[in-house]
Amino acid sequence: MTADLIDGKAFAATIRAQVATHVARLKEEHDLTPGLAVVLLGDDPASQVYVRSKGKMTTEAGMTSVQHLLPATTGQDELLELIATLNADPAIHGILVQLPLPAHLDEALVINAIAPDKDVDGFHISNVGLRGTGQRSMVPCTPLGCLMLLRDRLGDLSGLEAVVIGRSNIVGKPMASLLLGESCTVTTAHSRTRNLPDVVRRADIVVAAVGRPEMVQADWIKPGATVIDVGVNRIATPEGGTRLVGDVDFAGCSAVAGAITPVPGGVGPMTIACLLANTLTACCRVNGLPEPDGLTA
Ligand code: NDP
Repeated sequence: MTADLIDGKAFAATIRAQVATHVARLKEEHDLTPGLAVVLLGDDPASQVYVRSKGKMTTEAGMTSVQHLLPATTGQDELLELIATLNADPAIHGILVQLPLPAHLDEALVINAIAPDKDVDGFHISNVGLRGTGQRSMVPCTPLGCLMLLRDRLGDLSGLEAVVIGRSNIVGKPMASLLLGESCTVTTAHSRTRNLPDVVRRADIVVAAVGRPEMVQADWIKPGATVIDVGVNRIATPEGGTRLVGDVDFAGCSAVAGAITPVPGGVGPMTIACLLANTLTACCRVNGLPEPDGLTA
């Protein structure tokens, strides 16, 4: 079997186009422009590239993009003050503080200082609680992107066996919670899981979010399963350069799976598209307007 390629790059482009259409309608009919503020501390070049790319796509979708690039030495009070200002700004509908934060800052305190209805990352404890109890919440972008890809590929997910490898607050746990919400039978695997290959072998849906290059092997995959590779790992090439690979052995697993996401070009582009979708959703909610279909969980 040769798996179908799940083209996250193309799907993300359709999501961004949907967002742009809805944003144009909001402007025309309600004189509203969704606004996204991104806060980045420090001068890590990769994060700066990522934040710039978020800003560009936000603007391309017709939304307002505001970026706060602060020194890594920024104190907690100063950061909390900025968040309070953004919380109170009616032109800002989404706030994202780029993680990880420098070690001297209390990440949980900072995340929970963001107004829950502007928490477009979906990490605020209120959104975690709402999601965990099946109520309307802001949904973290990467798991939301994975869910959209799965729904597009499989339609109704109800009753399917899903194995999520990884239990981080950012990807693994919210992913498992979303799949449970879709009535999958969900197993969350992690570094202490025994017989991981056997656990993965029973899955109709595998989501790998580990951060270990090409860990998931072909003989772990049930024939025909749908494999979503969240991992982004940079490895050395024999030629002396580097390349990106996921957590899944793509070549091997492609021969067994029914469908698989590539790295790059799978989940990554969906994450940014879902950030834009969440900003639009937040803007609609705060203004009591109907949300666009298919852009949230
Ligand atoms: P974390 O490091 O926070 O979590 C990794 C998880 O993997 C942990 O739960 C850990 O288990 C588990 N794990 C580690 N080793 C093993 C093992 N040998 N077997 C089974 N489970 C294991 O990572 P994140 O969730 O933040 O990210 C995961 C990957 O996804 C990374 O490569 C990251 O770069 C990528 N990523 C990609 C995004 C995108 O947009 N494409 C967005 C976010 C992340 P334990 O809890 O027991 O330690």
